[in-house]
Order: sequence, then C-alpha cells, then structure tokens
Amino acid sequence: MRVLLVEDDPQLGDGLTVGLRQAGFVVDWLRDGAAAAHALGVEEFDLLVLDLGLPRLAGMEVLKRLRGRGQALPTLILTARDATGDKVAGLDAGADDYLVKPVDLDELAARLRALARRSAGRAAPVLCHGDLVLDPAARCVTVAGVPVELAGREYAVLQVLLENAGRVLTRSQIEQSIYGWREEPDSNALEVHIHHLRKKFGAGLIRTLRGVGYTIAKV
Ligand code: CA
Repeated sequence: MRVLLVEDDPQLGDGLTVGLRQAGFVVDWLRDGAAAAHALGVEEFDLLVLDLGLPRLAGMEVLKRLRGRGQALPTLILTARDATGDKVAGLDAGADDYLVKPVDLDELAARLRALARRSAGRAAPVLCHGDLVLDPAARCVTVAGVPVELAGREYAVLQVLLENAGRVLTRSQIEQSIYGWREEPDSNALEVHIHHLRKKFGAGLIRTLRGVGYTIAKV
C-alpha cells in the first residue's frame, strides 16, 4: 500500500512517515500542494493523506484537480481545521474521510486500511486465499491458523497480489506499490521475493506469466 502524504509541518510529516511505515505502508512525503498535484498526475498511489493549509497550492485545490481528472484515489484530509463547514466542504469536494489534528497514528492507520478495503470493494478486513489468511491490521500471515514468518517486502508483495487476486500485475505495478521514491530496488529483487514466497507457500500460489507479470488466482 503506497501512501502519498502531503504535509508541510516538518515534525508532523516526519512523525507520520515513520509511524505509517511502521504500520506497514510505503510512504512518500511531499511538503507542498503544487508538488503533490504534479506527483498525482504522473505516479500511482494507493492512498492520499492531504493537509489543507499547504504552501504553493491549497489542499482543497489539490483535491479538486485530482477529482477533476476523474481519479478515484482514496483520500483522507488531515487538518487542524475542525469547523463543521470545513469538514462538509472537504467531503463534498471528493475526500473520502476527514481527520482533525492532533492525530492518533493507530486511528489514522485503521482509517487508511478501511479506505483501501472500500476502494477495492472488499468487506472483510482480512485477505484470504484457501487456508492462507493475511491480516493487514495485525500484519501477520497464517496458513491453516499457523503463523508464517515473512520479511517486510515478501509481505508487501503477497499483500498486493492478494488484493488483486485474479488480475495479472506487471513487475512495475508491483514495484510501485512496494517501494517509495528513495528506495531503488535491485533489478532481480522482485524475483527473489517471489522465490521466497513460493518456498513458504508452495510453488502453485503465485503464477508467472512470462513477459507479462505475476498473479494469484481468485478463489
Ligand atoms: Ca499545513
């Protein structure tokens, strides 16, 4: 799950980046509205956390441009503005959720998981494939109830494939979802993660479509 965080307060931005990473999100952080509007036009994100009071371009304008382009990216406004009028304006401009600072990180992470679920059309909080269960809130994976240890990236690859079960994801789609801007993966890193996942869950779980990408069947 790749989150674009737009927050101009350096301390808060730093704290949110660290906290959301610990909660399992890939976080890219921008400090002004114009940079955010640009990034949203050229990059793929799974979630947007948007401050309203921003330099260069106001958060509301970022949101209006996003929705004006028809982008459905799940968006949570995170702001100090607690007036009902601001909340109504933000939600009616296309935000999916609205949270007033100071923020509790656990609540923010849970709301983001809920937004991701809803945008994927899923009702259940866990991802299942046969007797394999991935719980995004607990960040754990079990097979028939038995926990399976996964490295961080292995977990992220499995999560994005399960979230898109039945669809083929290209290598670049998977990489965009599991790496932020300053993390350049080795050229064969993804193959290594897939190899480890097959060792842990059996060769049949993840299918390779040569020259296209990877998929997990929908069950
Ligand atoms: Ca601000």
